[in-house]
Amino acid sequence: MHTNDKIEQNPGTNVNEILRSIPSVEILSQSIDHCGLPKLMVNSVIRRHLDAIRSDILNGSDLSLNHQLTKDVQEKIQYLSASKTRAVINGTGVLLHTNLGRAPLSEDQSNSVFEIATSYNNLEFDILSGKRGKRGLYVESLFSQLCEAEAATIVNNCAAALVIILKELISTSRCEVIISRSELIQIGGGFRIPEILSTSGAQLREVGTTNKTSSDDYENAISEKTALILKVHQSNFSMSGFVENPTHKELVDLGHRYKIPIVMDLGSGSILNDSSSQEIRNEPTPSMLLSEGYDLVCFSGDKLLGSVQSGIIVGKQDWVQRIKKNPFFRCLRADKLTIAYLECSAETYINQSAENSIPVHQLASIPNSELETRAKKIIEQVHKCENYCFMVETDSTYGGGTLPGSKIASIGLTIENLCISKVKMQKQLLHGGDIPIVTKIENEKLIIDLRTVLDCQDQQIVESINNLIRNNKNNE
Ligand SMILES: *Cc1c(COP(=O)(O)O)cnc(C)c1O
Repeated sequence: MHTNDKIEQNPGTNVNEILRSIPSVEILSQSIDHCGLPKLMVNSVIRRHLDAIRSDILNGSDLSLNHQLTKDVQEKIQYLSASKTRAVINGTGVLLHTNLGRAPLSEDQSNSVFEIATSYNNLEFDILSGKRGKRGLYVESLFSQLCEAEAATIVNNCAAALVIILKELISTSRCEVIISRSELIQIGGGFRIPEILSTSGAQLREVGTTNKTSSDDYENAISEKTALILKVHQSNFSMSGFVENPTHKELVDLGHRYKIPIVMDLGSGSILNDSSSQEIRNEPTPSMLLSEGYDLVCFSGDKLLGSVQSGIIVGKQDWVQRIKKNPFFRCLRADKLTIAYLECSAETYINQSAENSIPVHQLASIPNSELETRAKKIIEQVHKCENYCFMVETDSTYGGGTLPGSKIASIGLTIENLCISKVKMQKQLLHGGDIPIVTKIENEKLIIDLRTVLDCQDQQIVESINNLIRNNKNNE
């Protein structure tokens, strides 16, 4: 099909002729691959693209056009199509990869939520009385139980939890939030503690230094303007050496003495205090902080808890009630699917079966011998495997801004001796199979870390590696 791919300006060409040579939306649409997008979407992308070209031509800003129309439009369609949410294989070994949706969810728990999703349900309906009921009552009871808290509630994510806590606890006369300079952190993209504070109307009152903050530093900052003392888990970095911070007990005592609430943004929020992992056992738990005397603790639902995106607030009954009554709470509340899924997750923690039924913990605890068996099985099915595909030792991490520096020994696959660079191999593994495989490059090797690959995905790995080898093997 002729699409007038190039509109080249000759010296004699006038504007009208150029405009006339632009193909119609329909013709262009028929000449490209829609990449699975609805035709209306494709045509709308084309229309916008052509409109932009037309206006460039008309205002004279781009008369020397050498448009690769089909190619440009095709790229836009591919880009849009690739942004559609889909499953990928996580070969990075990062268990809570924020770019890859953090915690994968359990099939059993997803199935029970599916039933609720596709039916009407009792989200705000009291079955006993047949009247209007309270949203989230059961999930709140579960988290109160798990965290040994007077009360609990759920919002959209941990960032939202912190914002609503701040909004409720600060007032015009009491607007200052005291926080150590060592905790003015940034987490991932776009979450900076100082910015969250100012969005919530709080005045930041920084104390101490990056490496040392004492109890006196906090005490000296307390005034009649102090709304609360905020502790923030450092999350994605750790400090060692000449470092000092007051103990939780010292801070809580200070708060009680001056009648100032003490709040902790715990971030990753591990509640497994009997985990088989030493690092997870070392994490402060919400129940431990509440028993130390914190007024409120908030944490994320899709980090070490291994559940859905959500923010969990636990603590003193009065504060939690006030937060739930804040008009802003309505903007941050969790939806029915989140609530239903969190109920399932919380029950597994209460039944002490989380390590066996929460996927993040299951993946973290797969023995390497099992990964080795899978690796060997995959390699056996790879074409000329003795030349190209090998088993390697590697390290997985938790990621997602949790447990910085902690590593889990793991097993991966590496591909060598092909005639393309590792970066090109990475690209081909993303695009070459039915399902994109995200890999890592470590010590000059391209690695698919099997710890984060679900075992039902092994066959797809075989196919993608075979495609990669077929397309790029050296001449034999
Ligand atoms: C990750 C993190 C957050 C943000 O949690 P989301 O659930 O992603 O909003 C907030 N605070 C701390 C300390 C964190 O580690």
